[in-house]
Amino acid sequence: MSFDTLGLSAGTLQAVTEAGYTQPTPIQEKAIPVILSGRDLIGIAQTGTGKTAAFTLPMIDKLASGRAKARMPRTLILEPTRELAMQVSESFEKYGKYQKLSMALLIGGMSYENQEMKIDRGVDVLIATPGRLLDHFERGKLLLTQVTTLIVDEADRMLDMGFIPDVERICKLLPFTRQTLFFSATMAPEITRLTNQFLSNPERIEVSKPATAASTIAQTVIKTPRQDWAKRDLLRHLIRTQTITNGIVFCNRKTDVATLHRSLVKHGFSAGCLHGDMSQPDRLKTLDAFKSGQLQILVASDVAARGLDIPSVSHVFNFDAPVNAEDYVHRIGRTGRAGREGSAFMLVSPEDERRLSAIEKLIGRTIDVVSPEGYAFPTPQ
Ligand code: AMP
Repeated sequence: MSFDTLGLSAGTLQAVTEAGYTQPTPIQEKAIPVILSGRDLIGIAQTGTGKTAAFTLPMIDKLASGRAKARMPRTLILEPTRELAMQVSESFEKYGKYQKLSMALLIGGMSYENQEMKIDRGVDVLIATPGRLLDHFERGKLLLTQVTTLIVDEADRMLDMGFIPDVERICKLLPFTRQTLFFSATMAPEITRLTNQFLSNPERIEVSKPATAASTIAQTVIKTPRQDWAKRDLLRHLIRTQTITNGIVFCNRKTDVATLHRSLVKHGFSAGCLHGDMSQPDRLKTLDAFKSGQLQILVASDVAARGLDIPSVSHVFNFDAPVNAEDYVHRIGRTGRAGREGSAFMLVSPEDERRLSAIEKLIGRTIDVVSPEGYAFPTPQ
């Protein structure tokens, strides 16, 4: 299957070729013709499946006809986090380089004035987090009456973050006749309720079973004592002995992110940290350093777990078993992307056992337990 048969324009196909993609991924193959036809869509796909291009490419072509009026965007893309919104805007620029489309990114941590200036001039695409979008709407600077396409991305993440009421409010502010595309890795009842309410006769596309991890990820559990210092020692051993290009270490608690980060730096590792309490400039700086390879290890909380577009993460380490079993799938989805191989380790102390069982139940298999060769946990002094 090639991209040529999907109905995309020559300019968009050229941008796809320049991005280095030779074949559409399954979600792209299935979703692009549906989106071009104007139908509503529920896309059940995790990150790493190519879903961003699956909605961005046809959206760019649909927008090529027509022009934006001042303060009246034509397409609205809702993202749960600023990082995701920024990544989608980067994709939009990459794939839309041969079309003259305008875009505004409405995310927190940036000035309202610049965002308002762009809206005032008229934009084809608004990429926004729900809170910031509603802020702009309430300031009276934004009219949503010309929105013909709404894309809700990572709906399950929106649910986790408590954004569903905002999404619901936004849906009600948009014209009744519009195309709505809904993407989610899993379909919780709350999300199904939303799609029943706001989508009309949607096509449902599912590219891999909900809550299954990519098959290219080698998943391993290592049993550890309860103490964090033991986990930190083991983690250092793993980082030293595995062939790691770059890796993300996920912790359940923000305080653990900070402690672990400090400890890794103290032991001479090239590590940065990312969690929800950091300022936007700090997050961006860390993320850029990680993307460019300046930092080898990123210690992160689950806020950072979804949608980060870092194609070549070789390893994911779960410092603990995530509280929500579904977060495990999202965490390890940072590796093994687009068919590449990846490794995911989970450090499981007696405290984590119950959560490990929930994860294994969700993914429908047991995860191999290994003891790292030649390693023994240190005894406390
Ligand atoms: P996403 O699921 O949207 O986060 O995309 C995951 C990764 O796959 C991104 O790094 C994309 O650049 C990459 N990607 C998207 N479409 C393709 C494709 N057709 N061929 C190869 N890589 C792709």
